[in-house]
Amino acid sequence: MPCQRVVQASGEVKQARDQKPVPSIGTGFFEWFAAMTGIVYDDIYLRHDTGEHPESAERLRVITAHLKKAGLWDSLKRIAPRCATEDEIKLVHAADLVRRVESVAKGGGGNMDADTVVSEASYEVALWAAGGALNAVDAVMAGHASNALCLLRPPGHHATPVRAMGFCLFNNVAIAARYVQRKHGVKRVLIVDWDVHHGNGTQDTFYRDGSVMYFSTHRYPFYPGTGRRDEIGEGPGQGLIVNVPLPFNTRPETLIQEFEDVMKTKAGPFKPEFVIISAGFDAYRRDPIGGLNLEPEHFRTLTDLLKGVADASAKGRIVSCLEGGYSLTGLPLCVEQHVRALAGR
Ligand SMILES: [Zn+2]
Repeated sequence: MPCQRVVQASGEVKQARDQKPVPSIGTGFFEWFAAMTGIVYDDIYLRHDTGEHPESAERLRVITAHLKKAGLWDSLKRIAPRCATEDEIKLVHAADLVRRVESVAKGGGGNMDADTVVSEASYEVALWAAGGALNAVDAVMAGHASNALCLLRPPGHHATPVRAMGFCLFNNVAIAARYVQRKHGVKRVLIVDWDVHHGNGTQDTFYRDGSVMYFSTHRYPFYPGTGRRDEIGEGPGQGLIVNVPLPFNTRPETLIQEFEDVMKTKAGPFKPEFVIISAGFDAYRRDPIGGLNLEPEHFRTLTDLLKGVADASAKGRIVSCLEGGYSLTGLPLCVEQHVRALAGR
């Protein structure tokens, strides 16, 4: 029972639950309340200890501090995360991968590859990360929040069904997509990934699927080496993988125009019933490992464009999950613009 151990050890999860406002949804005041943007966060996500590493707990500390300072935090509806079950992780991942991550963590920690650190708590934290996305899905499907942002780590979009890599252990957005289909009967899910890196793990998961569209803008050539324009899916999935590779130093206007074109010609016509964002903010201009040129306000533009598609066919239902973004000064500003767009503020 790995999750219980963390709860007992930290007490933080229970405390967060106790503080969470849980209004019932009805009429009047609660109708207004229901229109709020949800936020998933818990201090448990700080316990994935990567040491000296760009993907550090400090990222979440600066984001949450900034959202509070900007007066946005209290306007968001807190959604408590939970521990995903092993069966939920296995909606996407092979049992062997789950066992390997668990055993490295149980052994005191180690590495899944040169970049991908596992600390003693990381297996459990990764279950809570996926579970955070799943609780956001449930809250949005129930109408308890109009849309939601999950401030969680470890990130997920590089994790393939069989391999943890690129700072990622389990693929939070892919698991959330499968979950919303299985639990809520949603047929078509759109995953949009504007992280500066291609989400190879998400693409792998749905390459031959046919029910999930995966759209990514990313720097190319760049890590992890995938995401060419001619990678379009196969079989039932043909045409549902949409890659927009962009060279180093691409102008923001070019990226935004490409994004808008895909919204109009591919994402909109797909008529998604649910939208999930791999929200990486390493395409920010000053990101130390990015190489694209987006300013914070451009993440507002991208969010607004995507909201148009979500409003048209998905009743506005969006769950956004943090992926990359390594500028500790710029990351909070980018997240602020994303939140403002989600919340319409
Ligand atoms: Zn990235």
